[in-house]
Amino acid sequence: MAERYEMIVGLEVHVELKTETKIFCSCPTIFGAEPNTQCCPVCMGLPGALPTLNRRVVEYAIKAGLATNCRIARQTGLDRKNYFYPDLPKAYQISQYDRPLCYGGWLDIESGGEKKRIGITRIHIEEDAGKLIHDGERGTMIDCNRCGVPLIEIVSEPDIRSAQEAKLYLKKLRSLMLYAGVSDCKMNEGSLRCDVNISVRPVGSSELGERCEIKNLNSFAFAAKAIEYEFERQTALLERGERLTRETRRFDASSGKTYAMRSKESAEDYRYFPEPDLPPLTVSEETVARLANELPRLPDLRAEEYISKYSLSEYDSEIITSDMALADYFEAAVRTSAYPKLLANILISEILGRVEQEDFYCPISPENLAEIADMSGEGLINSSTAKKLIKRLWLSDEPPREVVMREELFQINDREALTEAILAVIRADARVVADYKSGRTVAAKSVVGRVMSATGGRANPALLGELTQEILKSQ
Ligand SMILES: [Zn+2]
Repeated sequence: MAERYEMIVGLEVHVELKTETKIFCSCPTIFGAEPNTQCCPVCMGLPGALPTLNRRVVEYAIKAGLATNCRIARQTGLDRKNYFYPDLPKAYQISQYDRPLCYGGWLDIESGGEKKRIGITRIHIEEDAGKLIHDGERGTMIDCNRCGVPLIEIVSEPDIRSAQEAKLYLKKLRSLMLYAGVSDCKMNEGSLRCDVNISVRPVGSSELGERCEIKNLNSFAFAAKAIEYEFERQTALLERGERLTRETRRFDASSGKTYAMRSKESAEDYRYFPEPDLPPLTVSEETVARLANELPRLPDLRAEEYISKYSLSEYDSEIITSDMALADYFEAAVRTSAYPKLLANILISEILGRVEQEDFYCPISPENLAEIADMSGEGLINSSTAKKLIKRLWLSDEPPREVVMREELFQINDREALTEAILAVIRADARVVADYKSGRTVAAKSVVGRVMSATGGRANPALLGELTQEILKSQ
């Protein structure tokens, strides 16, 4: 079925902005506080309370827009979206309807070695709702701390065609929000949540099928699983000649399935109107220019630089730029290194595997890692010594060149010394020569292994291999 149908996916991502106070009042936004300790008449929507828009929210949203190549609206405003939810005491949410702050943007993903551009329809600002806490004995309680926490909603064009592309888009978007410094993007704390809009259609058809929305996916893996499941479900229905209905569904992580929640409401149901308690929002040219100036160099630009300046591969540059802390680390290290490609290799293969948390962190100073790369590049140490040094500096950082000098960890490049070590092994065990001559090439490997251990792993591996073959042949 996968060949006869294609999926059309658009994503709506909610990102909690990392402001210190809420969007319309001065309540704090600290995650995990005691329930109902961070709210006031404004965010609870009590009669007579008036909202004031937090300037920082607008600035962060504009930065998010600039980081995703959006245009920024100069004249806009906020709208009231009416609906009742038990976790929303006001019974309306202040959001933006037809005048989003940012619109018409895009980001590029790298899928199967090819670049693909995903359009970003809009980014608008809005307030979050509270949280319901279900307790079997005491019933359901409400925590209003999250009411009025600022959000941006980032809506993509329906340009995504596979679960893998959706994942790549989400990863790139998260990375861009971290670069822009607008959110901590902690998915386990709900700072980044994703709704999936998905429909299917026969390959070759240009009409869009009826779509379903899957709400509140809080991990990239769940988003991918929900998309895969939904594709199977929708194509199976179409194959049976049934019609799809437009609805909102939820994903259950334990079964890996989606379940219908409600028929999808349309925009008219919300009775949007311009928020009467807030003035229109005007964004000046100067503000946009100042915010653009505050943004760090973004990943695509950095990747281009790494390729042209340091001859890194596209793949390596993409890995390094996927996390700003990692990219900053690489740039600090590369400034003092004469072997940028080797440095990138060591960073990706030896350091990233040791980083346990989601975001990059390395206890070895960039200068010291550059020194390890340079010593390898110079042939002063071999790769096994480089690995040992990294393991050691990870626990206690110090200049690696000093360690190598003090403990004589130099690579042995001396032909005579290596020849002597090989001959010593052969003299002690004459069988290896006989084995070698009878065609057992493993005999050479065993000699190499024994010389390596005799030299404390310091022999130049290429030279040792070459000399071993030569000597065994000449015996
Ligand atoms: Zn408040």
